[in-house]
Amino acid sequence: MSEPLFLTPVLHEKMWGGVALREDFGYDIPSETTGEAWVVSGHPHGVTAVVGGQFAGQTLAEVWTKQPQLFENHDTTRQYPLLVKILDAHQDLSVQVHPDDTYANAHQPGELGKTESWYILDAKPDAKIYFGHNAMTHAAFDEMIDQQAWGELLRTVPVKPGAFFYVPAGTLHALGAGVLALETQQSSDLTYRVYDFDRVDHETGQKRALHLADAKAVTRVPFEPEQPEPSTINFGNAEKTTLVEAPYFNVYRVTVTGPAYFTKQAPYTQVTVVDGSGVLTVDGHDYDVQKGQSFILPANVEEWAFDGQLTMISSTPGFLSR
Ligand code: ZN
Repeated sequence: MSEPLFLTPVLHEKMWGGVALREDFGYDIPSETTGEAWVVSGHPHGVTAVVGGQFAGQTLAEVWTKQPQLFENHDTTRQYPLLVKILDAHQDLSVQVHPDDTYANAHQPGELGKTESWYILDAKPDAKIYFGHNAMTHAAFDEMIDQQAWGELLRTVPVKPGAFFYVPAGTLHALGAGVLALETQQSSDLTYRVYDFDRVDHETGQKRALHLADAKAVTRVPFEPEQPEPSTINFGNAEKTTLVEAPYFNVYRVTVTGPAYFTKQAPYTQVTVVDGSGVLTVDGHDYDVQKGQSFILPANVEEWAFDGQLTMISSTPGFLSR
């Protein structure tokens, strides 16, 4: 029998977090400063577990290793390649940059690099993100960091709900205060922090560590935005917008307004319901789905259907993640 893999989120407290993950998504948050829900994750820093069905109670990492056919995975030594999070930036996140695979593996063997992407779920009226920088040469970049010329160095972009940003490894970035975002990324937790707004962590009384040498080594200079143009197709009661098709992952926004039928397009598909509720039908079985739930449609699910009123962000592995 083929079936979806429903996953439980893993919640992470962060000094910049808030309560939106409870208020908007109904998650059982551990504190009033909860920043991240890892909703599809095989990463050891927060691995999601399967709820219901024949793999109930197993972690995604276990199912990935023991049932490679469900992912058309031919290399069982590698980790689950993708990670999906929902982030509540109640305050600004630190300005940071991530390495590519080569740098990550050289400096922290076993970790992947981190190319990520943001789908903006909600944003306060004046919300912005930090995205890219204004230095034209590495020398200028290093100098602006050394002189803490943040206003001159950092580039900001206003954001609205529904916007999408592709953030390749080597891009200086941060979510700004008042942004709720769904992040689809490589499964990695390697972050080089450049600027933390001189904040002190309430818990530790310390500033969080910066990683300036690594950041200078991995940041791409000059910044060249690679923003994909979204394209939308409609079929029946469904609308599917391609947000990005990139080497590590492909990301789509799917909305349904009634019965809608889908066929497999990739080894497996990760789905997070970001609005509405409805029914997912797989192999003759109906599953109630609603905002906040995430699931994987594995390789043995050749076709599926949704009914109801649903907005979902789905993703599939790109060629470098297969
Ligand atoms: Zn990041």
